[in-house]
Amino acid sequence: GQSVHAARFMMGRMLARESKFKGDIVISVPDSGNTAATGFAYESGIPFCEGLIKNRYIGRTFIQPTQKKRDTAVRLKLNAIAEAVRGKSVIMVDDSIVRGTTSGKIVKMLRKAGAKEVHMCISSPPIGYPCYYGIDTSVRKELIAATKSVEEIRQFIGADSLHFLSLEGLKASMTTANPEEMCYACFNNAYPIEMSKETVTGADKYVFEQRAK
Ligand code: SF4
Repeated sequence: GQSVHAARFMMGRMLARESKFKGDIVISVPDSGNTAATGFAYESGIPFCEGLIKNRYIGRTFIQPTQKKRDTAVRLKLNAIAEAVRGKSVIMVDDSIVRGTTSGKIVKMLRKAGAKEVHMCISSPPIGYPCYYGIDTSVRKELIAATKSVEEIRQFIGADSLHFLSLEGLKASMTTANPEEMCYACFNNAYPIEMSKETVTGADKYVFEQRAK
């Protein structure tokens, strides 16, 4: 009942309202942050710029099986555009932080390209719990928000500031669907289907797949 595009755009607008971040330009982490970044720019009046270019021939990094492969994939996948970010206070928008390693590399990349400040804005609340319903996020121990506070995550990724969309802001971004009918378990640990003890204590996100074998 809700267009994903419209919801993402509203999430970007809510991010601008909540974070009150000021900067010279808004950029997105392509492609995951694109729509929210345009919503942020629309709401704040800060111009949207292409600050990162994506190599479209490389797969998604967090799906790569090892950290080493993920590191290489990030380097091959994204490039900062120095002409766009040099000397600028940059507001960078993405849709989520899973492990935090990719975000950290992108912040470094932007600084190397000459960005004066990097403020990171995430269009979801922190992901502190695994998804058991099919979204390939991570097991709990690998989720950065499972063990770190927002300030600790900011330090880890090396951004000047960091804001996550609140759960209320996420719900308010749904204008034509009923937000009370949605799952938010990876943000608030309220799984709509009861989790078995083995799942919760073992933090084993593959429990359903293993049972099906
Ligand atoms: S909101 Fe629910 S279904 Fe969606 S990724 Fe999170 S836990 Fe999985």
